[in-house]
Amino acid sequence: MLKIKDLYKSYNSKTPVLSNIEMELKQGEFVSVIGPSGAGKSTLLRCINRMIDPTEGSVVFDNVEMTGLNKKELRKQRAKIGMVFQHYNLVSRLTVFENVLHGRFGYKSTLQGILSIFSEKEKQLALDILDKLGMKEFAYKRCDQLSGGQKQRVGIARALVQQPKLLLCDEPIASLDPNSSKVIMDHLKQICETMGITVLVNLHQVEVAAKYSGRIIGLNKGQIVFEGLPKELSNYA
Ligand code: ADP
Ligand code: ADP
Repeated sequence: MLKIKDLYKSYNSKTPVLSNIEMELKQGEFVSVIGPSGAGKSTLLRCINRMIDPTEGSVVFDNVEMTGLNKKELRKQRAKIGMVFQHYNLVSRLTVFENVLHGRFGYKSTLQGILSIFSEKEKQLALDILDKLGMKEFAYKRCDQLSGGQKQRVGIARALVQQPKLLLCDEPIASLDPNSSKVIMDHLKQICETMGITVLVNLHQVEVAAKYSGRIIGLNKGQIVFEGLPKELSNYA
């Protein structure tokens, strides 16, 4: 469902931040990208959803080459990719419900305070997803009243209302305590297993990656230095 070939990315002409990246994800896989800070993990995710343009190389997602798409085509591809961020990227003065609806319909509508423009079906989808994540009772709370772990569950819910094929998670637990981290990772795993959504997660904790992933990709200084099953990791670390 995702195939990356010969990907390079440089920000400022000098040494590339990503070099010669080759990787492939199959539908329904749970894959972690591990590596120290600065390894290029975030850059890799941003090249996949084209928040940034790769300097060279090919990213084929859901049978479509992502480079060279026009705005409309890119929007269509991006709708199939949910994003989860380390710092949640929620609008703190809006409610949980409003933040989640945004995933599908954009902040503009919610900022205008016209939730009535959403159909009952759309609202129900948002509430059902919040329910799965144990956040339904918080639906009408403002996001700035939530704990970090709760915020991240809202972040995940917002990505899921898009009904994505691929979920890209950039250090989703890096700001969370161990208990909340476990809750979040368990949800991600379950989303992958029960909804068939492909999950690609950036992590810097090797143990967490080993526990949850079907496959692990090790990135260091912009290069893939490991690719394999969690049990093969000992040869790498
Ligand atoms: P990671 O997610 O593994 O910590 P990043 O992809 O964030 O790694 O960063 C990889 C390298 O690219 C780092 O050296 C970082 O300083 C550099 N970098 C990241 N974003 C930018 C940017 N917008 N402009 C210039 N350099 C950047
Ligand atoms: P039912 O019991 O009605 O089948 P489930 O709770 O088993 O409902 O799941 C319904 C859907 O919700 C599943 O297809 C799955 O995609 C999603 N889901 C289940 N558990 C979670 C979870 N922990 N996090 C996110 N989504 C979930």
